[in-house]
Amino acid sequence: MAAVPQSASARLYERARKVMPGGNSRTTVFTAPHPLYAQSGKGCRLTDVDGVERIDFINNYTALIHGHLHLAIMEAVQQQLALGTCFANPTESEIALAEELCARVPAFEQVRFANSGTEAVMNAIKAARAYTGSPKIAKCEGLYHGSYDPVETSLDPTPETWGGAEPVARAYSGGTPPGVLADVLVLPFNETATARRLLEAHADELAAVIVDPMPNRSGLIPALPEYLAMLREVTAAHGIMLIFDEVISFRVGCEGYQGEAGIEPDLTTLGKIIGGGFPVGAVAGKAEVMAVFDPSRGKPALPHGGTFNANPVTMVAGLAAMRLLTLEAFARLEALGDAAREACRGAFRLAEMPGQVTGRGSLLMLHLTAKPLCGYRDAWRDPAEQARFGRLYRHLSDKGAIISPSGLVSLSTPMGDAEVERLGEALLASLKTLRAESLAAT
Ligand code: PMP
Repeated sequence: MAAVPQSASARLYERARKVMPGGNSRTTVFTAPHPLYAQSGKGCRLTDVDGVERIDFINNYTALIHGHLHLAIMEAVQQQLALGTCFANPTESEIALAEELCARVPAFEQVRFANSGTEAVMNAIKAARAYTGSPKIAKCEGLYHGSYDPVETSLDPTPETWGGAEPVARAYSGGTPPGVLADVLVLPFNETATARRLLEAHADELAAVIVDPMPNRSGLIPALPEYLAMLREVTAAHGIMLIFDEVISFRVGCEGYQGEAGIEPDLTTLGKIIGGGFPVGAVAGKAEVMAVFDPSRGKPALPHGGTFNANPVTMVAGLAAMRLLTLEAFARLEALGDAAREACRGAFRLAEMPGQVTGRGSLLMLHLTAKPLCGYRDAWRDPAEQARFGRLYRHLSDKGAIISPSGLVSLSTPMGDAEVERLGEALLASLKTLRAESLAAT
């Protein structure tokens, strides 16, 4: 029998494995048996190295809110490229992006830029520690905030390890020093009474509580309003910094999720959309707290360096991207998100498969279960369920729609009704295939 010719992606992956562990530089983008290598993107479409075009419903994990190669962003970047890419001097571009962000959100009085969401989270936590003088932080079980040691605590506990109603601090990466875990209080997400009790018992030691108000890794289930209100009340009463991690959720509205929720955190971490498709992170917050970064009067409480912080290419791209995000643009994305959620619910109904869709605004997540989802433990998927999602991801990809292997869908402004319709159709066809596979296996 003649050998099946290898795809260009398979060949690239073979090369990659020799020089990168698992052929990879970013754990999340590995998909078995190998990832599809991207050739190019335009608007909401992505073409792989084998020339196959698909609709991009992941948008580099939500970063590309205007899809690929938006003209206004590319023009801004090209103008900057002609002037230089980075300097050991500040540029006007960082002031303009900081002004744009501060003008949008009441809780943003000042901004500090970095190169990733991970750095933003690390610096927000260090700022809270420097400001309060307290050593510990609280974070929620199962919530992702990037790769800074303390916030990796209890990122993926299983039913065997997560303990009772009060979560236990568990290491995520091999070799995590026990001291890291000792400085983290783990809260149950959306369990208001238990979380309040834990916070009040440890209030004296806490510098910060960090929460993502609509956590992607934990099912994209919005935080209950009473949960966020409790966090704000308890932190304010005890002088603890409340940090909203809006690296993803900032895309739900003009003032981010905090605007929708009507809560003003002390600090907010940002990333993804504010870089217009280039590497970025930022901490934003009240000037009194942000003063820990201020080097103008000698060594600050929190010195913060970074060779590429506020580099002008990212800054001009981010400014162009944010200026495109008018109230009308958010209203349109919201309507598109509602239509996409409805289309996916329709697909579950027509396929006669249990399922539901979580999320808000331009973000949605598919779940292959009808049971009520309130937090991490409900949304947790065992390996068999994860494998089912892996298959769903591949079927959708075969039908021309790229979502994340966990079921995350992120819309972009170049999309319209036609793309939402395609998503519904591709999901219906993929669910039918999934069901046929399950029947064949029984
Ligand atoms: N916080 C949240 C909520 C995130 O979703 C992410 C990344 N997906 C991060 C922080 C880390 O951002 P980055 O990948 O830019 O380091």
